[in-house]
Amino acid sequence: MSIADLTYYRGRVGLFAILDALGVGAGDEVITQAYTCVAVPEAILATGATPRFVDIAVDSLNVDPVAVADAITDTTRAIVVQHTFGVPADMDALMPLAAERGIAVIEDCCHTLTGRLQGRALGSFGVAAFYSFEWGKPLVVGVGGSVRLNDPNLAHRVHQAYGGYRRPSLLRQAKLAAQTAGFGVVYHPRLYWPVRDAFRRLSRVGAVEGNYNALANGQPDEEFSLRMAPMQRLMLRARLRSVRSDSKRRRHLAAHYRDALGSSAQLFAEPSGADTIYARLPLRVTDKGRLLDAARAAGIELAQWYTTPVHPLEGEAARLAGYRAGSCPHAESRCGDVVSLPMHGRVSDRFVERAARFLRGATA
Ligand SMILES: *Cc1c(COP(=O)(O)O)cnc(C)c1O
Repeated sequence: MSIADLTYYRGRVGLFAILDALGVGAGDEVITQAYTCVAVPEAILATGATPRFVDIAVDSLNVDPVAVADAITDTTRAIVVQHTFGVPADMDALMPLAAERGIAVIEDCCHTLTGRLQGRALGSFGVAAFYSFEWGKPLVVGVGGSVRLNDPNLAHRVHQAYGGYRRPSLLRQAKLAAQTAGFGVVYHPRLYWPVRDAFRRLSRVGAVEGNYNALANGQPDEEFSLRMAPMQRLMLRARLRSVRSDSKRRRHLAAHYRDALGSSAQLFAEPSGADTIYARLPLRVTDKGRLLDAARAAGIELAQWYTTPVHPLEGEAARLAGYRAGSCPHAESRCGDVVSLPMHGRVSDRFVERAARFLRGATA
């Protein structure tokens, strides 16, 4: 089975399909890490279950296995394990924990297609994994998601349910096609800030498909019954063919960034045995707000996500998604001191040099 077989409107719809096939629903809890995006709790809530947010480890952007062990209760049905920015989570510690309690592990592979841990592909550890092909992800088709299924019984159920998922309406398809074309033409690291601002303005007025829906209001949003649009599916199949060369390029860029940044940058350590293919390269910085303003002025692509533990939700909206303020202090701190450098196809070696010069100057 390829990850282009069962394709959904978004990554979160793929996660929903997996949870649904596992029989997760009202009265169940699903563990997921803080320092994630709203897509994950949205999918959990759409099943009727409750998200249980767990903190990330110190000096990592991935979940703390000790915190996971503490959070498991009799109602825990699944653990969503996120490989943040493509860095493998601590599967050595997490898999036995889940196995001992008979809890399903679902890998959130939205930041990684080809990363490995101890020689084993990310996405192959749990019963299933899900992927997103939205803007900013390693492979972009605009809006879309898919799944990988490692358990034959689960695969059977997900395949059966897939018949009930419909194609997006022609209006949705047209919007997606227009914005995918626009993005392809205008996008370049120098244009990161203006494109991002325009995208946000347009999605606010509903002219493009933004990445954040209002949380489902008791009823799952219509999107949770949709497949990927046909054009996006064609793009996915075409782009999967260059995944190997893209990964090679990302490996090269990560090494170049490290080299060019030298000791001026605070990077995150990878677990032992990790072969990390970065979605973006995360850095810890001291004055995130000021640095982002300077990057914008200098035309340097520097992303600020995640800005809240359940990005981009704040206050009451975060609480409604199941996040208790103050419950995940590491995640909350990292929202204030992490930025990330781009790794996509338009990033040149010259950009790497320029970004490194900028960061060395800004942090000197
Ligand atoms: C992008 C993303 C998702 C899913 O996003 P969709 O918009 O539903 O495709 C899920 N988890 C993480 C960590 C992501 O970055």
